[in-house]
Amino acid sequence: MAGALGAEVILIERDIVGGAAHLWDCIPSKALIATGAELAELQRARSMGLQASGRLDLDALADRVRSIEERLHTSVRDLLASQGVHCLAGTARFTGPRTVTAETASGAEAVDADVVLVATGSRPRVPDWAPVDGDRILTTRDAYRIREVPRHVVVIGSGVTGVEFTHMFRALGAGVTLVVSRQQVLPKKDPEVAAVLEDAFLQRGVSLLKGARAHAVERTTDGVVVRCDDGRVVEGSHAVLAVGSIPNTDGIGLDVAGVAVDAGGYVTVNHNCLTSVPHVYAAGDVSGKLPLSSVASMQGRKIAEHCMGLHNRPHRHLDYDKAASAIFTDPEVADVGLAEAEAFASGRKIRVTKVPFSANAKSLIEGDPRGFVKIISDPATGVVLGGSIVGQSAAELISVLAVAVTNNLKVGDILDSLLVHPALAESLAEASS
Ligand SMILES: Cc1cc2nc3c(=O)[nH]c(=O)nc-3n(C[C@H](O)[C@H](O)[C@H](O)COP(=O)(O)OP(=O)(O)OC[C@H]3O[C@@H](n4cnc5c(N)ncnc54)[C@H](O)[C@@H]3O)c2cc1C
Repeated sequence: MAGALGAEVILIERDIVGGAAHLWDCIPSKALIATGAELAELQRARSMGLQASGRLDLDALADRVRSIEERLHTSVRDLLASQGVHCLAGTARFTGPRTVTAETASGAEAVDADVVLVATGSRPRVPDWAPVDGDRILTTRDAYRIREVPRHVVVIGSGVTGVEFTHMFRALGAGVTLVVSRQQVLPKKDPEVAAVLEDAFLQRGVSLLKGARAHAVERTTDGVVVRCDDGRVVEGSHAVLAVGSIPNTDGIGLDVAGVAVDAGGYVTVNHNCLTSVPHVYAAGDVSGKLPLSSVASMQGRKIAEHCMGLHNRPHRHLDYDKAASAIFTDPEVADVGLAEAEAFASGRKIRVTKVPFSANAKSLIEGDPRGFVKIISDPATGVVLGGSIVGQSAAELISVLAVAVTNNLKVGDILDSLLVHPALAESLAEASS
């Protein structure tokens, strides 16, 4: 974006351009989930009157993931080249307030800049009680390297990443136990949404260990043992840690540049993503806002406009409270804006409408009536404040509510739209009435 706006841009990357999203996070996880979904479809086909069988070819699957990554990587590189961005392969650190030095294969290269953007991302958090070995005790990044479907995976952590990995391994045929430290999976999400997902997990044979906080993982001869603080012990062939991430802010010379970080090591930024230093910006996971690719990209675009002096144009600051997010489980989960519990906690008056997909013609035709749409609006004005969807295609459907929330549309605007029939989106209109 900065290149497109006419800036001379140097991008320093130590690994691959495109970052963790392409290598470990969004893309490989969703590619494996897509294969798991195809397997489930084949199994479900029987109930639709078809005979089908599916055999998983892990080598072909690994090739497929690699080819998706390569295509995305090439398209990002081509895009950068088309905007005249110079990519420098190396590890960067500040060596002065306006100087960044890249350690490249051919030695150190110092770059002086008017503006610096720190976008070094984050990495999985590894607690000291978990001796990760990349073989049996894994971070989410190690989990893609497994060459056979594990016998039984113990997933530790039931936030977004934990439930996605639970779904992914189960869909590929592994046994799974999910260690849930609270009384519901997805502790930050709507409890009714979490309940639908929990039911789906239980029906698919996932064991949920609720109210149990893992505090030790050990290797055995052919597997792992996970010990919880309430005395419960789970055995499995592998353990996967999904207990959050930490920012990549150590060793990059932020102190040399005078860039402030918070107690968690995240770079502190203002509403323009500017750090404590007026010519240094930070975006993405290091900025400690919402750890989502979509948010990182949007921050990058806004920063480019800001540093190129376009912030005086009509311009909307990023409102993180209006970011849509999705969880690619089966059923999918997605939400945007104000949550029901949040509104109750703050005493704000809201109108909540909930419509089950079991009343939707397309859901019934497709044989998957699980889940619901919930819309939260302002009772006085009808403005859509938020919504949650759990069910098939929730990640796509939430876009309608995201547009409504971002643009202060009213439930009447959704209701008055002539939608397709039969379509899952009809439930959005119904929940708007
Ligand atoms: C399993 C998993 C699944 C996810 N799925 C989704 C999803 O479906 N949708 C979504 O929106 N988000 C998803 N996320 C979150 C998303 O991946 C991150 O929010 C996003 O990648 C953050 O982007 P970033 O640019 O901040 O960092 P990154 O993508 O991590 O990029 C940082 C880059 O900086 C490089 N780097 C670091 N230090 C240096 C240095 N000193 N010198 C040079 N280069 C350096 C790294 O090599 C890396 O390429 C997922 C996360 C996980 C863990």
